[in-house]
Amino acid sequence: MKNPLLEKFNTLYSSAPFSKIKNEHFKPAFIAGIKISKEEIDQIANNKAVPTFENTIAALEFCSEKLDRISSVFFNLNSAETNDEIQQIAQEVSPMLSEFSNDITLNEELFNRVQLLYDIKDELNLTPEQDMLLNKKYKSFVRNGANLEIHKKDELRKIDTELSKLKLKFGEHVLAETNAFELHLTIKNELAGLPESVIEAAALNAKQKNKEGWVITLDYPSYVPFMMYAEDRNLRKKLAIAFGAKAFKNNKYDNQQIVLDIANYRHKRAVLLGYKSHAHFVLEERMAENPENVTTFLNDILEKATPAAKKEFDQLSEIAKKDGITQLEKWDSSYYSEKLKKELFDLEEEKLKPYFKLENVIAGVFEISTKLYDLQFEEIYNIDTYNKDVKTYKVTDTSGNFIAILYADFFPRPGKRNGAWMTTFKGQWVKDEENSRPHISIVCNFTKPTETKPSLLTFNEVTTLFHEFGHALHGMLANTIYPSLSGTNVYWDFVELPSQLFENWCYQKEALNLFAKHFETNELIPMELIDKIKKSSNFMEGMHTVRQISFGLLDMDWHSKNPSDIKNVKEFELTSFKNTNLFPDVKENCMSTSFSHIFQGGYSAGYYSYKWAEVLDADAFALFLEKGIFDKETARKFKSFVLEKGGTENPMKLYKLFRGKKPDNAALLKRAGLLK
Ligand SMILES: [Zn+2]
Repeated sequence: MKNPLLEKFNTLYSSAPFSKIKNEHFKPAFIAGIKISKEEIDQIANNKAVPTFENTIAALEFCSEKLDRISSVFFNLNSAETNDEIQQIAQEVSPMLSEFSNDITLNEELFNRVQLLYDIKDELNLTPEQDMLLNKKYKSFVRNGANLEIHKKDELRKIDTELSKLKLKFGEHVLAETNAFELHLTIKNELAGLPESVIEAAALNAKQKNKEGWVITLDYPSYVPFMMYAEDRNLRKKLAIAFGAKAFKNNKYDNQQIVLDIANYRHKRAVLLGYKSHAHFVLEERMAENPENVTTFLNDILEKATPAAKKEFDQLSEIAKKDGITQLEKWDSSYYSEKLKKELFDLEEEKLKPYFKLENVIAGVFEISTKLYDLQFEEIYNIDTYNKDVKTYKVTDTSGNFIAILYADFFPRPGKRNGAWMTTFKGQWVKDEENSRPHISIVCNFTKPTETKPSLLTFNEVTTLFHEFGHALHGMLANTIYPSLSGTNVYWDFVELPSQLFENWCYQKEALNLFAKHFETNELIPMELIDKIKKSSNFMEGMHTVRQISFGLLDMDWHSKNPSDIKNVKEFELTSFKNTNLFPDVKENCMSTSFSHIFQGGYSAGYYSYKWAEVLDADAFALFLEKGIFDKETARKFKSFVLEKGGTENPMKLYKLFRGKKPDNAALLKRAGLLK
């Protein structure tokens, strides 16, 4: 049987031949792809020749080209166009892939060659990019224990196994606790304040559970609007306490001991590898570099945001007083914020949407990219896609040079996961003197067109499109030699800079005037609406910032010190929150026991990066504001020092080359209205 995934893609731009790929091709392709890579790795490891950068590091870098291509096609489909069969295949191939990557990091011959080169790297005359690649490869071994004595290696494996079990359990408990609770309402009055769509969803929830009336759950789409709109304070309280008590009830789903165990195992692992703490281990490969930098950063913003937060808190308390509330509690926050927002801005989404027809917004995104980076976009119809809704564009520069293929997949459908993301079907690299250009994709779930109306985006969808397109620019303009350093393959706290930076154009009159035209009358968006958008984007920024900082500090507290003395999760948390508290503590609640970002997902010692990225994008955009938002020279610098460079050099160095200075917090504080 011919397998299109294993053959050379003989298509235009060698794009993926989606129409020829059948589900049954994937597993054999993975097996064959892994085999090919393994053979190449063995050859590198057992090479009799003296190790050189080319025969070891570069060879290693290019040895899994086929497998990477298969993986990206497969996992992108698993997100955008999945079904039971594909999910089943994912279950089967994921362990194969992790075993394959373990085989590489545990390959001693291979590591010996890498180490030998690393030890003499100053004599190798490497370019900065090669130096970065050598470091990255070397670190990928030693951060997994390649340098340890044999008994310590075993200990590391044991810790890793324990950690993956604990993280899994943590997640299962949170999920079980989320599903175990429901707020079952049977009296119509209890729904007072809720918008019709929320009531409908609650009725549907009830129906699915074979119940009368309405059911509110702890899932975000159900929980969030209830907290925002429900007039019944007791019900809000009940729901909020249930939400905050997840995995903190001393029942079989309790996560207190698991939190302590995860923190301790992480610390042990870091110490075993020679680091002071888990945070030191994580931050070694981040722009922020170390825990001290992160805590200083967070505390500085906290100091500036606290007065604004207190003022906002008083403002909300004032409104709540009219309802007889003497002490504002956690479950009042969203509700009174929403009231105040309506009073201050009355910014109805429905009034904005006619100015944001999808086609107009796309044209705007393209025009802004042309003005900044000289890119041209041409819709093409002669390459394969995985669904008929996917649009394809050929991207060139003004001289007609081929830059990238861009796929755009805008609307929801069954088999596509929620949210929006940018991804890559093929990376960028230079090999045999050929610059092999990337195939980039943006995937969204926007409001669909109807028979009578085109797709009209909410403002939030507009910023989402700009955000993902900012990532896409990072991918499309990539211009490096080695694929693992190309495009968005950068330090984790640097990757959101291009995306968040690009969002800034959505708030600028000069940019909006290019595309924000009424879909029927062609009238430009009124200035008054632009002002409202700007002002409302800073609404409750003080309280919001303090909350984000409190999570970032809690994360650092868990991960930057030896946690072995911590006995009580709740007490530890109270100490951590002491400078960020605005509301009275709720004794039934605990944040850590359901803080999945840091105890289950990949955000441990990384929660700060949300704010960090905001600081970067505000500071970067300040230069555009100073020089002009379409200033060619500023754009050129951003392109050649950031977008083209990927992860080939330290991000702080790249940033300074672009900006002429280190980022500081002032621009963000100013934009957020937190600086007087
Ligand atoms: Zn992003």
